Amino acid sequence: MLNIANGIKVTLLSLVVISLAFYVAIDTQHIWLSKVALFEQSLYGLFIITIIFSAHFSRSRFTFLTIIFALFYITINEQLAWSNWVLANQSWLLLSGLFIFALLSQLKERGVISAHGISRVILFGLCGLSAYVWGIAIEVVIEQLNVNQFTSNWNHYLLLEVPILLVSLLLLWRSIVTANLVVVALLISCIVWCLHFYKIIELPWSVTLTVLVSYYLLVVVVESYFFAYRDELTGLPSRRALNQLALSLSNKYSIAVVDIDFFKKFNDSYGHDIGDQVLKLVASKLNTVKKGGKVFRYGGEEFCIVFPRKNTEQILTELERIRLVIANYKMVIRSPKRKTKEQRNNKKNKGSVKKVSVSVSIGVAQKERNTNFEQTFKLADQALYKAKKTGRNKVCG
Ligand code: GH3
Ligand code: MG
Ligand code: MG
Repeated sequence: MLNIANGIKVTLLSLVVISLAFYVAIDTQHIWLSKVALFEQSLYGLFIITIIFSAHFSRSRFTFLTIIFALFYITINEQLAWSNWVLANQSWLLLSGLFIFALLSQLKERGVISAHGISRVILFGLCGLSAYVWGIAIEVVIEQLNVNQFTSNWNHYLLLEVPILLVSLLLLWRSIVTANLVVVALLISCIVWCLHFYKIIELPWSVTLTVLVSYYLLVVVVESYFFAYRDELTGLPSRRALNQLALSLSNKYSIAVVDIDFFKKFNDSYGHDIGDQVLKLVASKLNTVKKGGKVFRYGGEEFCIVFPRKNTEQILTELERIRLVIANYKMVIRSPKRKTKEQRNNKKNKGSVKKVSVSVSIGVAQKERNTNFEQTFKLADQALYKAKKTGRNKVCG
């Protein structure tokens, strides 16, 4: 549920950003229209920068998309052998684009220059072929049915509007479910692609592609920032973000170091995947911390909470509350061993779920007059050691 809310938020926000960008582009036409050649020339540079940047930051879907848009742009601008055919087959062009957006929404990020890269190029070719076959198939079906005067309308609906609707719904659904900025950018590309073909966006392709490809570049930059400062598994800020915060702290703050008890044993008993689920769960419980605490994944099964402008006395009860919330939470897991089909179908076996729980030990320290961040952290770590030595599942200061 939380993921879907996040997905809706990310999708809406991205749509607002790109709508604003196009609004500005359309509204300022009187300024740039006489200098449109500038866009045409700089677009090639933008293509190259985006291709290199997205490949470098492992956003291969943007790399491919930008290459495809660059090829499309060259095709419609230069007199290439196939340019006339492409321009005369607008429906095919529109459908091929749609199929490629849909395909990319289903693929994972992989290296560009690799076996995956080659297989992707083949898949893009298949998208073009499918668009061609779809066009012929619709013609044949309509001819066979040989209905009435509505035929030509139905032909159009089936040929273009139905695929547009289906692909748009698929991309919208994927955007909401994944909350992934690359997938949302595919939805945006699909919308822009269709609006341009239906002449709802009346901008030269050079300007439309400048806005769209700049948006990809922005997403790569934003994502690589989050990549560097966020922990992928838990979604919490990472150790690098903690170091950044350390530079901006005032003279009064407290640090709590949190460590899951006997986590190695837990992993050994239930497996690494369930261990990961527990890490996520502990992270989400820690994230409910009050008193202005900022939570970080320090590394492994260790977390750090920084409480700006608080001494240890002001936060002990809050840490105690969090410790209890975690210790009392019962996580339901199914048997880690794969069951046979027979065992799965056996009703008696359906009850074979286990409830497990973990506890955390917490060490806490406050900044003193002559200690810096590293020293305060060390004191909290020593307090954590004391908590571990004296029985675990406790807060020590
Ligand atoms: P203690 O109560 O003394 O803290 O014991 P412990 O077993 O928790 O401590 P130890 O440092 O010996 O082991 C930490 C374990 O945490 C080792 C490793 O298997 C596990 N771990 C670290 N990072 C991850 C992770 O990202 N996922 C999973 N599943 N396990 C992890
Ligand atoms: Mg540890
Ligand atoms: Mg531990």
